[in-house]
Amino acid sequence: MSLSREAMLIEMGLGPLWKLRAVPAAEASPEVSVDAPESRSSGEADCASEASALVQTSAPPSPSLTTGEISVASPSATDGADDAPWQTLRREVVECRACALCEKRHQAVLGVGDPAADWLFIGEGPGADEDACGEPFVGAAGKLLDAMLAAISLRRGDDVYIANAVKCRPPGNRTPEAGEIAACRPYLERQVALLQPRLVVLLGRAAVQATLGLDVSLASLRGKPQVWEIAGQRIPLVVTYHPAYLLRSPLDKARAWEDLCRARALMGEAKAAAQ
Ligand code: URA
Ligand code: SF4
Repeated sequence: MSLSREAMLIEMGLGPLWKLRAVPAAEASPEVSVDAPESRSSGEADCASEASALVQTSAPPSPSLTTGEISVASPSATDGADDAPWQTLRREVVECRACALCEKRHQAVLGVGDPAADWLFIGEGPGADEDACGEPFVGAAGKLLDAMLAAISLRRGDDVYIANAVKCRPPGNRTPEAGEIAACRPYLERQVALLQPRLVVLLGRAAVQATLGLDVSLASLRGKPQVWEIAGQRIPLVVTYHPAYLLRSPLDKARAWEDLCRARALMGEAKAAAQ
């Protein structure tokens, strides 16, 4: 489905606000406002309820919201054979000391979502909230990401997996260094090999560096078809802005919306080609 620019702007709410498209009554939920990023001191949050409250702002709860060992926030795991590689990966990440980011982390943040997801979203690295909760994108940027997902009829945990270029928080939320991204890349590659997503959406420059190995501006890649050759797969990539950047530069939400529409179209093509 392609949306006119006018329709896009209506959906964008013409401001730092993403409104959901009309969805079937059973799925309908109120618009998601990102006008007022919540402030909370790290380490004090009740992370599981925080995460589920967050999800409820953009979508109703779903039994498939998070899956077994994949979600730190809901560790009610099965020990099924299929989970074993994820459990191994999670353990390795939790114990990893391959770069200096291990020194100040409270928790390593592997990722969250559906282990059979077609969609993989890759961000930069955990911030204070994520470091406290163990789940990616639970702070203000996460709220916007959830709204972005909802705008293309997706939701966290349901056909969507969310990961980061680095699994441990860069102190002071600085940008991860190239060496840190490179040290963490094998974990991202293993996530991709396990997930086998049909499409990857890169949220910002660190994600571009982690996947394509390029330290270039987003502008030079946005809107251009990219492919990630990894683990024997050729996965289409869509490059867009990081939600934290969009919170600071809401006018670029229009471009991000174009990117998401492109991603949705590419996913449609990928699914059609697989039939
Ligand atoms: N920003 C990111 O890139 N990742 C997170 O998990 C949170 C904020
Ligand atoms: Fe290991 Fe990645 Fe954490 Fe560095 S950021 S310590 S490579 S898990």
